[in-house]
Amino acid sequence: MLLNDELFFQYQRCPRRAYLDVWGDAEKQDPQTDFLRKLQQDTIAHRLSVLSLLSYHQPQYPRHDVAAGAQATLELMQQGVDMIYSGVLLAEHYGDFTLTGTPDLLIKYPGNSVFGDWCYLPAEIKLSKRPKLDYQIAVAFHAYLLSLTQNFLPDVGFLFLRSRRNYPVNLEQRLPQMHERLNECIEMLRRRQEPEVFISRHPCSNCRWYSSCYQVASEGCHLSLIPGITPNRYAKLKVLNITTLEALAKVEPADLAEEPEFPESIPEQLVLQAKAFIENKAFVTPAAFFLSGEDLPTAPVEMYFDIEAEPELNLFFLHGVLVVNRLTDTQQFYPFFAKTPADEGVIWEEFLELVWQYPTAPIYHFCEFEAQTIKQLARRYHTPANRWLPLLSRCVDIHERITRTTILPVESYSLKSLARWMGFQWRNSQGNGAQCVCWYDEWLKTGNRDYLTAIEQYNEDDCRATYLIKDWLVKFLQDSSTENLIRAGL
Ligand code: SF4
Repeated sequence: MLLNDELFFQYQRCPRRAYLDVWGDAEKQDPQTDFLRKLQQDTIAHRLSVLSLLSYHQPQYPRHDVAAGAQATLELMQQGVDMIYSGVLLAEHYGDFTLTGTPDLLIKYPGNSVFGDWCYLPAEIKLSKRPKLDYQIAVAFHAYLLSLTQNFLPDVGFLFLRSRRNYPVNLEQRLPQMHERLNECIEMLRRRQEPEVFISRHPCSNCRWYSSCYQVASEGCHLSLIPGITPNRYAKLKVLNITTLEALAKVEPADLAEEPEFPESIPEQLVLQAKAFIENKAFVTPAAFFLSGEDLPTAPVEMYFDIEAEPELNLFFLHGVLVVNRLTDTQQFYPFFAKTPADEGVIWEEFLELVWQYPTAPIYHFCEFEAQTIKQLARRYHTPANRWLPLLSRCVDIHERITRTTILPVESYSLKSLARWMGFQWRNSQGNGAQCVCWYDEWLKTGNRDYLTAIEQYNEDDCRATYLIKDWLVKFLQDSSTENLIRAGL
């Protein structure tokens, strides 16, 4: 059986994905998203920009003919060329498996190999800013294949990252980890054993098997769908024979608290979360009774704020603000949109002008990103402190408030999940933050106003969803009573 570097890489991210890539029904894969397509294009662009600075040889061979590719690569290594791009490495007898890999670069280095007084080191070109462990393991995999070809095991490989930093991979450290994972992967493939589903934001959100896996998890009420259940906690629950919602709901939190995987208030939260699902009911937590009016202010005018950003360009291209005037019972949405990246400073000023028209209005947002961005933009544009610092004390993170005070029957405490549970519908069901980045990219390339409209509409809906959650939370906490706490067993 053939095991290539791509399959091994996917195994590291999720064993089930590697299994499905080999034996799954391809028709059950989700269509490729614009975001994944953009990621692929960005990856290729990054690779080309690194290669443009290098001088290299590339083996020539018939497409898909791995053996011919390995032979052509071997010949280049024997000639002692300085650098090989996209060479092919092959190990035909790894037990009953054949291993193959295509390292981005093989770099000539002094050493004693079968070729003479030189050897090759492996290097990967990655779009990432960080030397993630799975990338380092990929370098170790190539180093191992290389050692079988050149009869010399390098002790270092490299990652060429987006930050332009060349990260040296310590192979002495990574090779044992690589072998351990490789043997697990081979065992899974040999036994043809379908790994259990486990839904988590990473890596599932960018996986084309998501819909199919989610269906499996949802039909089986899998515990990974419960917020707070991590792979480590799930493994421990399985050891304790707690594998269903019902079993988790009956657990005595103090029993779980003895396990290191369940620190502080996690046992109570998980048990209550299971009860919320079973009863399809929202609970308040004891922390709710310490929430003051200042923590969750209701004012004549309130603002609901959401930002769209392009991380690749380090650009904040849309500040959306929904102004809710409770006195006049009116709502007005203001989208401050940077039609070009150069307009970022202009829309920052426009945003400041609007928020200072209502100097006492609380500014609601979902998660910390908006408040952090205010600080970042103030620094970037040298904004006087009196224009931005007071805004921070007006900011109210509704995500922090709702997670502190409630347990809800939702699979995630994301804006989408919460607002949908409360009955909100986004006008464009395809919209999300990543999609907005793609739409912005298309807007910059084409100037097509449909993209601009789609982004503004999505952002407005995010602001309106935040508004809905805030009002729901205020009402829920008002309606909640001590009886609710007693029913929750607190
Ligand atoms: S959706 Fe998640 S569990 Fe399923 S294959 Fe992909 S990464 Fe693995």
